[in-house]
Amino acid sequence: MKVERMKEYMTSQEIRQSFLDFMASKGHQVVPSAPMVIKDDPTLMFTNAGMNPWKGIILGNDPIKYPRVADSQKCLRVSGKHNDLEEVGHDTYHHTMFEMLGNWSFGDYFKKEAIDFAWEYIVDVLKIDPANLYATVFEGSPEEGLARDDEAASIWAKHLPADHILNGNKHDNFWEMGDTGPCGPCSEIHVDSRPAEERAKVPGRELVNKDHPQVIEIWNIVFMQYNRKADGSLEPLAKKVIDTGMGFERLVRTIQGKTSNYDTDVFQPMLRKIGAICGCEYGKDEKIDIAMRVIADHIRTIAFAITDGQLPSNEKAGYVIRRILRRAVRYGYTFLNMRNAFLYQLVPQLIADLGAAYPELKAQEAQITPVIKSEEEAFLRTLDKGITLLDKLMAEAKQAGKTEISGVDVFTLKDTYGFPLDLTELILRENGYTTNEDEYNKALEHQKSMGREANKQDLGDWNVLREGDTEFVGYDELSVETHILRYRQVSQKGKSFYQVVLEKTPFYAEMGGEVGDTGYLRIGDLKLKIVDCKRENNLPVHIMTELPKDPSATFIAEVDAERRQAIACNHSATHIIHHALREVLGKHVEQKGSLVTAESLRFDFSHFQKVTPEELRKVEEVANAFVRRDFHLEESRHTPIAEAKAMGAMALFGEKYGDDVRVIKFGDSVELCGGCHVSSTGRIGAIRIIMETSVAAGVRRIEAVTAAKADELYYLAQDTLNNLKVLFNNAPDVVNAVHKFIDENASLKKQIEQFTAEKIEQYRDHIIGRAESFGDIKLVRIEGEEDPEMIRGVMPLLRGKFTDMKFAVVAATHWNEKPTIAVFLSQPLVDEGKNAGAMIKAAAKNIQGGGGGQPWFATAGGRDVNGLNAAMNELLENLK
Ligand code: ATP
Ligand code: MG
Repeated sequence: MKVERMKEYMTSQEIRQSFLDFMASKGHQVVPSAPMVIKDDPTLMFTNAGMNPWKGIILGNDPIKYPRVADSQKCLRVSGKHNDLEEVGHDTYHHTMFEMLGNWSFGDYFKKEAIDFAWEYIVDVLKIDPANLYATVFEGSPEEGLARDDEAASIWAKHLPADHILNGNKHDNFWEMGDTGPCGPCSEIHVDSRPAEERAKVPGRELVNKDHPQVIEIWNIVFMQYNRKADGSLEPLAKKVIDTGMGFERLVRTIQGKTSNYDTDVFQPMLRKIGAICGCEYGKDEKIDIAMRVIADHIRTIAFAITDGQLPSNEKAGYVIRRILRRAVRYGYTFLNMRNAFLYQLVPQLIADLGAAYPELKAQEAQITPVIKSEEEAFLRTLDKGITLLDKLMAEAKQAGKTEISGVDVFTLKDTYGFPLDLTELILRENGYTTNEDEYNKALEHQKSMGREANKQDLGDWNVLREGDTEFVGYDELSVETHILRYRQVSQKGKSFYQVVLEKTPFYAEMGGEVGDTGYLRIGDLKLKIVDCKRENNLPVHIMTELPKDPSATFIAEVDAERRQAIACNHSATHIIHHALREVLGKHVEQKGSLVTAESLRFDFSHFQKVTPEELRKVEEVANAFVRRDFHLEESRHTPIAEAKAMGAMALFGEKYGDDVRVIKFGDSVELCGGCHVSSTGRIGAIRIIMETSVAAGVRRIEAVTAAKADELYYLAQDTLNNLKVLFNNAPDVVNAVHKFIDENASLKKQIEQFTAEKIEQYRDHIIGRAESFGDIKLVRIEGEEDPEMIRGVMPLLRGKFTDMKFAVVAATHWNEKPTIAVFLSQPLVDEGKNAGAMIKAAAKNIQGGGGGQPWFATAGGRDVNGLNAAMNELLENLK
């Protein structure tokens, strides 16, 4: 009885907490979710599994702070190796963004505890009926020389009958981090939630891993015990790792006795909200249900991505988010008839549902909402444009007597207008057209393979020269004696280079928007270039195009000091600009991103309108006053995060920080920051803002330069001004001189216009004087050299004069070796049915030209002066 009640009343919120509490009771340190958006890893845009944030530890690059940790991690599976996007909405248990509950052991417990904990939690704590549970174990792989995972199987046998323990193949039950690196067998727990009658008919074991919507995997427990080398061989891992991941939404559905993730309290309130806004009801029509599920799912991804600092954009991670947002808009557009922006109205509901577990959502609400709204509106405009284009394609096909639209065109629609195949097909079908899917797929495949080629990286094995950890000394030193710990060769885009890990290094590895250092590895007089320094799974790697002859020698690692100083100036200046912006614009200003290079700095921040020139000037003044006060750098490298916050440090949502943080303080500017800074602000010299633009709704961008680059900017302005002065005969007041010049110019222009008008009037009289009879028409023929501007200019005057007389001008002239023909017809001739436009069109071919105009006046230019006579004759012929 108690068991039943527990199942009924456990909310998703309680279930999440119960997992964390349970793992805490087993000695795990519970940590908050890392951001879903990954900023400093070139190989991964989004966290797609609970283990991603722990990669550094698993690879041995980061120290193990807690051997046991547990968390609920925001994950996103919409790109790369894990891409569930197409399933989402159509099935009821794959999401784009989902929460993964996980526990880890880094060199601590292994298979036995991992399986026992899992069992205890779901059976003893959550009371899931063991009769409905199945566990899989790795069946082995003879070609790899790996036996079945009997160890795991025998642990499961304590809990489950033999026919609930199933063998799984390499695809399902052997987990690998990548082509190389840690890997090992895994065990998955599957739940059969079909009704008893169905279970009696077909045993659950026959449906495990068969994509049955009611027999699904809920938990994967990975036993990392090998390291895969570049040649494909496996070696035992020194520190074994347990990595587990349980889909939270699937767990909730199981506990709440539902058959769809969307029937739980995780999604029901949102579906009701969508129903209210879109005027539809969930559970009546499968097509509408799919659309509602897509929207309920996608709004989570969109809002969490923006919260983590990833705005929709046109490249990389930003483009992935933009596409998801568009997918949601499109389902609303097609199936729920939503023609106006509506997704942004769902944000308050999302905060009501998830705000308690993820407070960053609420904190960023003012940012999320306008970004979504403006993206939606922009896409709806694009949809309209796409539909117009599609209409045009269909009209063209109709003219050509075809009913098939080229697959390449449909692909272009998708590629440039985000107009997806299924929507295009729907519209085509409604209008009686089809498209060529083969062509479409070819175009798609071509694009994909180009993308794959561009990203392909060949990693060699690490050559380990020395054991030990790498130490960064670059906050204090720019040159240090050191050794190479390990190196490997990497090929990408036909280029090959080396990644080198040093024992001690003064090189800052690109992170937090600050570029990596460059410099040299020196031995005696020999200097080998270090062209960049990046972070690979949190390991600082120096990029070199050439290796020393003897890599095991002792070297001096030397940072390009001048470049570093320029970078430090720009980095400290971003803090100062941040500070000044908050003072001038208000405390709503928060950092949204930054890029610090040796040349300039870029700072993105939340603000809802354009920063006016006056405000910008003020910001620059405040920033430079700050510079001149020459505040000394107060740096503390290991401050507990709570203490740092108490100091007033701006904690940034979406940044992943360890428990100890580095605090950078200049005056009352206090920030958590790992970057390189000047020793005092006076060294920056000057800060000059060069640009202010919009990045997205509610996000502005400032670009600025400092130090020598600020001087350059000043010199440039000064030189421009000096050059201007010279042009104006060293006028003491150039602005005044320019004004005078502009005024003079305007009055000259007027004079010319007047002069021309007079000239045209004279020309009119001259023309009229030359009129001859041509039947009952008064005709003026103009031949020879004549300025076409004059002819064109005179026509309106003639039109006004000969309103009730048959008067015509026919011209076939040349000017600057170019032929022109023209025809003027007075109104009575037009009324008679004569048409200057048609006459010109017909005659223009004589001069190899084209043109046209109105019935009363038309003209055409051409290329062949020799055709002028023929043209004149044809025009006269047609005037008869
Ligand atoms: P499936 O085969 O169902 O796609 P998976 O093998 O991709 O699952 P894992 O990579 O082992 O799953 O992830 C661990 C757990 O995360 C799964 O057991 C499942 O509960 C959950 N999970 C995986 N993908 C999703 C998703 N797209 N939406 C919700 N939960 C998911
Ligand atoms: Mg999957």
